[in-house]
Amino acid sequence: MFRRITQFCKQLFAEGEQAESTETFQQSVPEGTGLSLSVTPRNAHTISRKNISENALKVLYRLNKAGYQAFLVGGGVRDLLLGMEPKDFDVVTDATPEDIKKLFRNCRIVGRRFRLAHIVFGRDVIEVATFRGHHGDEDGDKISKANAEGRLLRDNVYGGIDEDAERRDFTVNALYYDISDYSIRSYGGGMEDLNEGVLRLIGDPDTRYREDPVRMIRAVRFATKLGMRIEDATAAPIRKLAPLLKDIPAARMYEEVLKLFFAGKAQANYQMMQDYQLFAPIFPLIAETMADSPKGHCARMTQLVMRGTDQRVIEDKPVTPSFFYAALLWYPLKSRAEEIAHESGLSLYDAYFAAMGDVLERQCQTIAIPKRFSVPARDIWQLQLRFERSQGTRAFKLMENPKFRAAYDLLLLRAEIEGGSLQKSAQWWQSFVEAPEEARGDIARGSGSSKNAAPRNRNRRVRRRPRSEGAPAGSGSGSEA
Ligand code: ATP
Ligand code: MG
Repeated sequence: MFRRITQFCKQLFAEGEQAESTETFQQSVPEGTGLSLSVTPRNAHTISRKNISENALKVLYRLNKAGYQAFLVGGGVRDLLLGMEPKDFDVVTDATPEDIKKLFRNCRIVGRRFRLAHIVFGRDVIEVATFRGHHGDEDGDKISKANAEGRLLRDNVYGGIDEDAERRDFTVNALYYDISDYSIRSYGGGMEDLNEGVLRLIGDPDTRYREDPVRMIRAVRFATKLGMRIEDATAAPIRKLAPLLKDIPAARMYEEVLKLFFAGKAQANYQMMQDYQLFAPIFPLIAETMADSPKGHCARMTQLVMRGTDQRVIEDKPVTPSFFYAALLWYPLKSRAEEIAHESGLSLYDAYFAAMGDVLERQCQTIAIPKRFSVPARDIWQLQLRFERSQGTRAFKLMENPKFRAAYDLLLLRAEIEGGSLQKSAQWWQSFVEAPEEARGDIARGSGSSKNAAPRNRNRRVRRRPRSEGAPAGSGSGSEA
């Protein structure tokens, strides 16, 4: 109780004091750190506690009351200052994960590379990190560890706020909202960069990208999300260092790819990643297929998938990694299947099945697509093989498949790209799918004269799988991907 009253008085005092000053002031930096610091008092910035999540505020206040420093940091502060709604609120403190665990019953300690505390409020999780310090470089430092390329494998050295700021990626992410007096501490000119729309890496860009190559795709993601320009020195080493992305653990890359393409900026991110040569190291098969494809089907598919994903996000429709990967990898699958059929003499139909495993395995080396998405992606592919042969009364059966809708969407994309007989097949399906339920029977029977019609006579033996020509709808003719 006493502590609460003291805290309350302190806050009143701080508020009174801050009311006087609306000037941002520069402060010299403590020895050994190279970043300038400026402090913007509460009355000189636009962040209001009303816009901060209640749970984040609870965490900040409880840490502060227990005598620790506590700040909102990173994207939460940055986005609020830009008038955007933050995706999440991250907290940073001088309390260690163990200290934090003592304060919160609902706390889990997570992470190896970075040990963090997660404070769990039902479905909402507030991530609380301890200030990072400088990582020792040589002599057997066990808490910070880098590989031969300079990539940090572990980073659990604790420090103060100034060192923590140096360990952050961009200046606009080194913004700290101080819960003790509601001021904002900004390092390395973060506040000015934010106002000018400049993304600037903290420290030497070459070293910082080598430490963590994911920062290169973060640069792209923030540039498109925030409408900012990547400052020249920050942009300069990207093309040269892009191949380092190959070595990022595939599970982490999976998460990064979701953030890149499932947040409404897929087209812009894809374009910028291509410009900076960041796409090929993560999607090597797609890049190879694009390079081998004079008709540009694979490139066109990638553009359409990105556009469609953005559209769905804008319309608040669900987006799923199974469709995303099935569609992006369709032409790599097609060319691998044709290659297998050519080399092995397998029917094209069987070759497709063999190719599915190859393609997924290759893609999963850089992006660990979880089974719950790669299995349905295979279903979407398999349905492509059945579309043409199921026109007619078999169409009803196909429609019952849980992945029918996604597979049908992929068929439409393929038809848009390739035209020809595939376009005809897609039109048949479109008329069937869009027809009122009671009219579908007629449509199914109406196609009876075509070679695709299902046999009327139920007793007639149906050859389920064509022996050699069993390619998916429209793919029989060319080997173009
Ligand atoms: P958003 O949540 O909108 O994607 P963010 O900036 O909050 O953006 P997070 O991944 O939530 O990004 O990380 C929170 C903060 O942690 C960042 O603002 C940055 O200060 C720091 N950070 C995250 N990833 C890195 C990294 N790879 N290298 C250095 N600092 C990082
Ligand atoms: Mg964040």
